[in-house]
Amino acid sequence: MTTTKIQSTHCNRIAFVYVRQSTPLQVIENRESTERQYHLRERAVELGWPPSRVEVIDEDQGRSGSTATHRSGFQRLAAEVVLGKVGIVLMLEASRLARNNSDWYRLIEICGVSGTWIADEGAVYNPREPNDRLLLGVKGTLSEAELFTLRTRLYEGRWNKARKGLLHFSLPVGYVRSAEGDWTPDPDAQVRERLDYVFDSFRRHGVVRGVVRDLKEQGLELPTRVTAEEGYGSLVWKAPTLGAVIRILHNPAYAGAYVYGRWEYSSERRSPKTGKASAHVRSVAQWPVKIPEHHAAYISWEEFMKNQEQLRQNGGRDGNRGVPREGRALLQGIVYCGICGRKMSVQDRAAREHRSPSYICERAYETSDETICQSMSSRPIDGAVAEAFLAAISPMNLRVATQVLDQVQQDLVAQRRQRELQLEQARYEARLAQRQYDSVDPSNRLVAAELERRWNEKLERVAQLEQTFAQAERDAEWSLTAEERAAISDLSQDLPAIWSAETTTNQERKQLLRMAIESVQLDGMRQAGQIEIQIHWRTGIVTALNVKRPAPGEGSLKTPAEAVSRIQEMAPQRTYAQIAAALNRAGLRSAFGRRFTTQHVGYICRRDGLAKAKPSCGSKLKDGPDAAG
Ligand SMILES: [Zn+2]
Repeated sequence: MTTTKIQSTHCNRIAFVYVRQSTPLQVIENRESTERQYHLRERAVELGWPPSRVEVIDEDQGRSGSTATHRSGFQRLAAEVVLGKVGIVLMLEASRLARNNSDWYRLIEICGVSGTWIADEGAVYNPREPNDRLLLGVKGTLSEAELFTLRTRLYEGRWNKARKGLLHFSLPVGYVRSAEGDWTPDPDAQVRERLDYVFDSFRRHGVVRGVVRDLKEQGLELPTRVTAEEGYGSLVWKAPTLGAVIRILHNPAYAGAYVYGRWEYSSERRSPKTGKASAHVRSVAQWPVKIPEHHAAYISWEEFMKNQEQLRQNGGRDGNRGVPREGRALLQGIVYCGICGRKMSVQDRAAREHRSPSYICERAYETSDETICQSMSSRPIDGAVAEAFLAAISPMNLRVATQVLDQVQQDLVAQRRQRELQLEQARYEARLAQRQYDSVDPSNRLVAAELERRWNEKLERVAQLEQTFAQAERDAEWSLTAEERAAISDLSQDLPAIWSAETTTNQERKQLLRMAIESVQLDGMRQAGQIEIQIHWRTGIVTALNVKRPAPGEGSLKTPAEAVSRIQEMAPQRTYAQIAAALNRAGLRSAFGRRFTTQHVGYICRRDGLAKAKPSCGSKLKDGPDAAG
């Protein structure tokens, strides 16, 4: 109907045929639609374009496209349109071009600016015409509404099935589907036994790492089902990894439950690499579909829940700071390796060992490697950091710090203004370059090409500045909230007293530290016997400290000095048993608060070089106090 609207200047530019299908399934099943899309090429020729200037973009084949970010075909199209190289864009249904309204409107917008036409099988639209523009907009809205109902229907259907436990998904290894569709344990005894072994090993070790080590030591592999197209569903044996064991322990299917909806997908947060919606695990109470005793179980539900709790307690190894936990290592969750930059984890010793916990680099954990980057006792580090913290948060320092903070914030506002101006300038220059390019006679090719090159440069500069701007905005998010400031101010008055009060738990001390400290970096390798500590305050300031690395055994519980000196006095004259009895009579107790025994006195004498030679031994006496006596 509107072919007359098209002028010859349009035919000098390229005609783009935009072919797209939503999903790989549609590509396979909906051949007819694909063919209709390719017929658009003929339509372009009918409209007056020479075949050599008709280009088909079908890069999007097989990509689902709710947004354009990950559809290079759409992006290429948009880029070419912006550059004014395109005379017309043809597609099957105009609104199908972009499934997302904002993309669609943006395209109408840029087509309007660059004077590009839009066409489908039925009509040709000029986005500069108010009527055509309205029509295109309505088509976009309709398409989105249609997509929405379609998606909701599909989604609902899935959930309906899931609620009845009938939705089929690939079964976890260890189960197979019977002819009736029921879940039955894998007929392969080796598979079943290996899973039993994993659960049993976790019962014994309580940590995933222990299970992996156990499997490796025993030379046991883990069964997995192939999910790739080739050999789909077949069984392979793989070396055990932390990830595989964690997946098994987290999977409620092994406790006999049919569960659907363990993962929640958020459409706002997408992976920058793949464009897929990011997923996070729902807690057990939030699982939308949970059918207990749906099939034979490997472990009881109670044990499954116990395992989840255990895994949660072992966890906190993901990127975030994690929740401050009760425990003696104060920097848990905010301490990083100064050598490789990874987060360090806390190795808590058993209480009976009477040793302080250690900070250990996670490198070994991640690579499930046996060698570790570095590890160090937490005690001297925690002490130094706490001291620095108390000094920094003293009321006077705090006033200065808040002033610094305000200054930094003012600087940020000023810097932001500068960046905005810079960006505005760059955008203006780009528009100017576009106008220069638009005004040149297209037949004057050399000039046009040069102007186009300059315009491109300007556009690139704009994109670059936009990126820096966004990055700077993100970087500026470190500042303290008003509540945090108020809390710090209240605390600062009597902080040292609160800190050392017996009623204050370590968990609370950790919370206090985290209010002021962003992270702490440790390097125990650069200088022998020293640990370099870098405290990164939330104000952006970095404090460097050095502490001595404790010698082995130093700082562990000691026998009271009085007892040691008595032993030294008595050692030359008396037997170990006599000394022990004398100490106990005097009411002295060992480092562990127990009564002294012969063995214990003997241990201290040998340690301090007071050991008596046993008479029965008959060996020569060496130099030493007892030799003299
Ligand atoms: Zn490291």
